[in-house]
Amino acid sequence: MLTAEPPLKVRSAEGAYLELEDGRKILDCISSWWVNIHGHAHPEIAAAIYRQAQELEQVIFAGFTHEPAEKLAELLIEALPEPLSHMFFSDNGSTAVEVALKLAFQYYQNQKETRRKFIAFEGGYHGDTVGSMSIGQGSPFWKKFSPLLFSIELIPFPCTYEDNGEGGDSIEIKEKLAIAAIKKVIAENKKQVAAICIEPLVQGAAGMRMCRPEFLRNLKEITEENDMLLIFDEVMTGFGRTGDFFAATKSGVCPDMLCLSKGITGGFLPLSVTVTSNLVFDAFLDSHGEKTFYHGHSYTANPLACAAAIKSWQLLNENKEQFQTMEALHRKLASYYLAGHKSLKQRRFCGTIFACEIESPEGDHYFNSLSAVLKKRFIEKGCLIRPLGNTIYLMPPYCIGEEALSKAYAAISDLLSEL
Ligand SMILES: *Cc1c(COP(=O)(O)O)cnc(C)c1O
Repeated sequence: MLTAEPPLKVRSAEGAYLELEDGRKILDCISSWWVNIHGHAHPEIAAAIYRQAQELEQVIFAGFTHEPAEKLAELLIEALPEPLSHMFFSDNGSTAVEVALKLAFQYYQNQKETRRKFIAFEGGYHGDTVGSMSIGQGSPFWKKFSPLLFSIELIPFPCTYEDNGEGGDSIEIKEKLAIAAIKKVIAENKKQVAAICIEPLVQGAAGMRMCRPEFLRNLKEITEENDMLLIFDEVMTGFGRTGDFFAATKSGVCPDMLCLSKGITGGFLPLSVTVTSNLVFDAFLDSHGEKTFYHGHSYTANPLACAAAIKSWQLLNENKEQFQTMEALHRKLASYYLAGHKSLKQRRFCGTIFACEIESPEGDHYFNSLSAVLKKRFIEKGCLIRPLGNTIYLMPPYCIGEEALSKAYAAISDLLSEL
C-alpha cells in the first residue's frame, strides 16, 4: 500500500467498457479478471437476479433445495460429458478446488485406503486458500506459506506455441518428458497417489500457458490405468473461454471431477460447483453416515447466484458463435497489428484467449517489472490489459466485437513501438 498507484474508481459499466468516475471509458480486455462473459451490467441477468430476489433470496441448502439450484444442475449436467452427473455447490474457484481435493482424499478413505499424494503441474494456479495453494505450489506466489502446505509432486507443463520447437524441445518431446515424470511418481508411490489436478488446455495465472488436447488424453489414460482420479480445474477455462463450452468438451476428455466458477454467473455473483462422476458420488453412500462428506458453506447454492447462472447459460447458448469464432478474429487481428513486432515471441491462441511474451532482459516470469509499467500505459490508452509479468494477454468478454478488439490490438502495437 506504500507504493501502489491509487485504485481507479469505476462509476458504471456497459458491454465491454468500464466508465470511471472522471468520465474516462476503459475497454475491459481481461473480462474483469476472467469472470465477465456477456459484457457488464447485462440487463437480462440483472432482471433475472431482481426477479429471483423477490421470490427467494437465500435458504439453507442442507435438507432443503430450490428450483434455481436444481435447474442449473440439470442444465450443466446435460452439457457436460456423460459420467459427470453430480454437483457440489460452493462459492468461489478456490473452494471448488478445495472440495475436489477433499473429495479425492475421502474417496479413497471411504474405500479403506489412505492416499495423500497429489500430482500437479509447474505453473499451475488453483486458488488462494490453503489446500488450493498446496496443489498450486507450481505457481510463484506461495513461497512464504510453504511450511503450511501439504507436499505435492510437480510435473513440467508441456507448453505449446505457434512457433513450436523454435530454440527448444518440440512439443512431442515436452509431452513425453511430462508423461515419463508422472509415471515415475506413480511407480515410486504405489497406491498413494489420489489424483492428478490440472488446468486443462490453458494455465491461467502462470501466463496463459497452453497445452494440447493430446496431452489431456494421455493423462486420462494414465489415471484410468492406475486407478487414480483426474481433476480438471476449469474455473477459468469453463463457459466458452477455450472456444468450446468447456475444455473437457473441446478436448473430448472427461475427468472424474471438474471445478467451475468465474464465468458461471456471467460475472455477476460469486458461485462455483465441483462436478463429479457417478463413481465418486457412489463412494460416499452408506447407511450410517460414516462416508458422508462433511463440507458446506453458508451461501451454498445461493438462489440469486443460481438465477444469474441460469440466465448466463441461456445467453451463452444463444450467442455461442461469439466465443466459437473469436479465435479466428484474434488470429486475424494479431497478424494485422503485431506481425512486425519482433520483440513478441511464443504467440498462442485458444478460443477467446490470445497471449504472447515480450522479449525482456529480466527473463520470462511473473515478477518481471514490465508488468506494472505496461499496465499503467495501457490504462492511459483506454484499455484494461494487465500483463502477467512479461506476458501480454487478451481475454475479453465475448460481446466485444471486431471494432473494439481492434482497439486492444492497436494499443498493444502502439505501446510496443514506444517501448
Ligand atoms: C481464479 C482461479 C481459481 C480461484 O478462483 P477464486 O474464485 O479466485 O477463488 C482457481 N483456479 C483457477 C484455474 C483460476 O483461474
